Amino acid sequence: MDKKLLQEMQLKLEKEKDILEKELQKFAKKDEKLEGNWNTEYPRFNKETNIEEAGDEVEKYENLLSIEYSFETKLKNVNLALKKLKQGTYGKCEKCGKEMLIERLQACPEARSCTMCK
Ligand SMILES: [Zn+2]
Repeated sequence: MDKKLLQEMQLKLEKEKDILEKELQKFAKKDEKLEGNWNTEYPRFNKETNIEEAGDEVEKYENLLSIEYSFETKLKNVNLALKKLKQGTYGKCEKCGKEMLIERLQACPEARSCTMCK
């Protein structure tokens, strides 16, 4: 892969990382102990919270958890791709070891496997 393309991928990945972290920060906290882990805050209830409200809050929390999970997974792959860029192994399929198609990487810069192995 040529240098210009690698640079383009790096920019894309860094932008993606930024966006994902900002989105996660809106409702979750970064786990200081476990790298790459985020924790969604559980809703706090007090005596004034009625059952209906509490139910809504829990539902909201559960939705956020699934969003957290998908963002977290994507962020992990983005970080992994950035690491590979540094190590010079970026663009290789993790399963078959072949170079991935440029079209695949442009559509999904954090891809870990080629379209055949996906
Ligand atoms: Zn493959």
